[in-house]
Amino acid sequence: MDLVVRQPRRAEPGETLFGTDFSTGPGGKGLNQAIAAARAGASVRFIGAVGTDAFAERLRDRLVADGVDVEGLRTVPGATGIAQITVTDDGQNTIVVVPAANADRAFSVDDRATVAAASHLVVQLERPIELLEVALRHARDAGVTTVLTPAPARAGLDALLDLADVLVPNEGEAMMLSGRDDAESAAIELSRRAGTVIVTLGERGALVARGGAVVRHVGARPARAVDTTAAGDTFVGVLVAWLADGRSLDDALEAAVAGAAITVTRAGAAESMPSRDEIDRALASPVATGDV
Ligand code: ATP
Repeated sequence: MDLVVRQPRRAEPGETLFGTDFSTGPGGKGLNQAIAAARAGASVRFIGAVGTDAFAERLRDRLVADGVDVEGLRTVPGATGIAQITVTDDGQNTIVVVPAANADRAFSVDDRATVAAASHLVVQLERPIELLEVALRHARDAGVTTVLTPAPARAGLDALLDLADVLVPNEGEAMMLSGRDDAESAAIELSRRAGTVIVTLGERGALVARGGAVVRHVGARPARAVDTTAAGDTFVGVLVAWLADGRSLDDALEAAVAGAAITVTRAGAAESMPSRDEIDRALASPVATGDV
């Protein structure tokens, strides 16, 4: 659950400051990507954990409202994972993530069956690394295509990178993980470990690398951006929905940039993501979103 506080400036240690606004809303990369994929037409099962507080029901209801199967969403005693987001008047934000229930490490027999029955397993780094490694290895063994968004990025991920058939970092994450200082070298370096590497570049689109070489650059769709929150999660959700539908990677990339371009024209996270119809309409028109 995202807890968003707006305040004039950062508080000094020991200071009490009046904020100007507070809101809560479903968030997290897993939830966002699940909703993006479901809206884009995929059949999605969510494996995750919530606590026993009031946030848990809201998150569950949100996923169900978008048609995501939550049989694999387990409840563990205690708090649900939160992100405390502080936005100051100068537009800067700070984020503190408290994993709480997300730290749960269980990967049950039912979870294994869910993964083995899927075409794709999509994971992010908001769950424990050891759990993700077990899940990715299980998917690999079952012939399921693995998709990893390495965010929030951190060091020591080599084992996970080796288990990713499709790796989708943004530019900053790609550079951090590879130790390179430009997106192209980073994509090349990461593609020596993962299968297909897709580095998203914001309004510059995305780079695709495979086997140590850049193989494609996909331009972004022009859009009048009002809020880029969840652009990356929309990109991943739509990409996977298209791949799961048996479409080619090239088609999936076109759909992903079209879907993400719609998301940036609207405020908010999951609520700004497009439906399948909207993506299809955008793909049918040469300049799809925003009247640029
Ligand atoms: P976020 O954290 O905001 O979800 P991100 O950093 O993970 O985003 P980005 O690389 O910023 O990911 O954006 C993902 C994709 O969204 C891009 O590859 C692009 O296709 C699309 N996109 C982002 N910003 C714009 C924009 N201003 N106009 C059009 N498309 C955009």
